[in-house]
Amino acid sequence: MRLHWHRRDLRATDNPGLAAAATDGPVVPVFVFDRDVLAYAGPPRVAFMLDALDSLRSWYRERDSDLVVRRGDPREVLPDLAETFDADGVTWGKEVSGLGRERDAAVRKALDDADVTRQSVQDALLHEPGSIRTNQGEVYSVFTYFWKKWRDRETDDPADPPTADALADVSDDDPLPTLADLGFDEPEADVPPAGTETARDLLRAFYEDDIYDYDDRRDYPADECTSRLSAHLKFGTIGIREVHDAVTEAKRAVEGVDRDSAEEFESQLAWREFYSHVLWDDPSVVTENFKQYERPIGWNHDPETLQAWKDGETGYPIVDAGMRQLRAEAYMHNRVRMIVASFLTKDLLIDWREGYDWFREKLVDHDTANDNGGWQWAASTGTDAQPYFRIFNPMTQGERYDPDAEYIREYVPELRDVPADAVHEWHELDAGRRQMLAPEYPDPIVDHSQRREQAIEMFETARGD
Ligand SMILES: Cc1cc2nc3c(=O)[nH]c(=O)nc-3n(C[C@H](O)[C@H](O)[C@H](O)COP(=O)(O)OP(=O)(O)OC[C@H]3O[C@@H](n4cnc5c(N)ncnc54)[C@H](O)[C@@H]3O)c2cc1C
Repeated sequence: MRLHWHRRDLRATDNPGLAAAATDGPVVPVFVFDRDVLAYAGPPRVAFMLDALDSLRSWYRERDSDLVVRRGDPREVLPDLAETFDADGVTWGKEVSGLGRERDAAVRKALDDADVTRQSVQDALLHEPGSIRTNQGEVYSVFTYFWKKWRDRETDDPADPPTADALADVSDDDPLPTLADLGFDEPEADVPPAGTETARDLLRAFYEDDIYDYDDRRDYPADECTSRLSAHLKFGTIGIREVHDAVTEAKRAVEGVDRDSAEEFESQLAWREFYSHVLWDDPSVVTENFKQYERPIGWNHDPETLQAWKDGETGYPIVDAGMRQLRAEAYMHNRVRMIVASFLTKDLLIDWREGYDWFREKLVDHDTANDNGGWQWAASTGTDAQPYFRIFNPMTQGERYDPDAEYIREYVPELRDVPADAVHEWHELDAGRRQMLAPEYPDPIVDHSQRREQAIEMFETARGD
């Protein structure tokens, strides 16, 4: 008998850790609410996770087994459960973040002390974290080289789910805790549904409708042509091998630009693994700049403008639309994430860590590696990052990627009746015209051209130029 400890793998199919446990007699699936991990979570993610756990539990119950759920410190809970079920081993999926790895090392020790074997299995990524390296054995700091090696590697097939016979005949009558039980408020956002079937529906819809337009349309937030799989990949309600198989199939079926489009999507999956490799190699990137500057960067400490950014009240329409989408949906389109992150760091000159913390609290798909990678990219402090002198202009970004201001108007109702050209020129209109067009919408809180110069100066000082 073995325990399988579900963490970021809230599914039964394409779950190599669960499959490994099931080869060795009946498996008892368990989940532990760990206060130390929950301390870093925000309400949308916990709500999504509870929904995912509910689906997973139903899956087991339909097979006369159950997901055994406990609250506490896994160092104590897992040895206790092993004793209760007379299990001699525990499996789990490998973690990437520093916090997760520290926790796992402590759990390993506790299980060793209790004479329980344990096996951590590569799961959340297609390729083992840290395994794709330069010929000198270094972690890649340039994505393109990483991507070529990643793409050309053999991949494993998705593992079958365990049969009902391979599941222990257990039951756990305690209901799942609520958000309030876990000390969280209800999220202000509408959190999307979780569960493997939902993830599969999204994947199917994506490759039936959007994958061949992805390359052309992925940067246009109003088109909504991306997969929306991020929260599912974060919580493992769908396995990465299953997603990758679908992409491989989509590539195989076509040629030319359609194939390129499917490959563009595949490369986003590789970005996810690239950032995980970076985090695996150096867990300190969560709080420290990846790229070293000669001197500290002279970030602004400005709670007022930070709050305006969080509230979507900066007077820069595309920025405000993104920040309001985040609050309403616990999600933001990738292009807009890049724009709002650039705005925080290069227009408001505020430290990327403030933005990262806000995203960590508000995003349903917050993932340490991807969020950190995205923020450090935008702040010019990361690996393969945007050069410090290439600064997004929020007006031209809005004009290029939301030409009809459709996305902006969806999230900024004050601008609903304002013509698109006036929306994109908001910063250039005189105060009287702004007042006439949208009296409730704020004036720009900073002057982009001025701030652009200041940002360059700030980085040049940090570089010691
Ligand atoms: C400042 C900033 C913060 C970000 N924070 C996160 C985060 O916390 N969690 C997260 O999953 N992504 C993050 N991203 C990356 C990206 O914005 C989201 O993955 C994407 O918007 C999710 O939507 P989707 O699933 O429809 O993506 P799709 O375009 O359909 O992409 C498919 C999958 O590929 C991965 N992916 C796509 N783009 C990236 C990328 N640039 N970097 C790494 N992986 C990527 C995701 O797992 C995504 O679900 C961030 C980007 C930026 C610029």
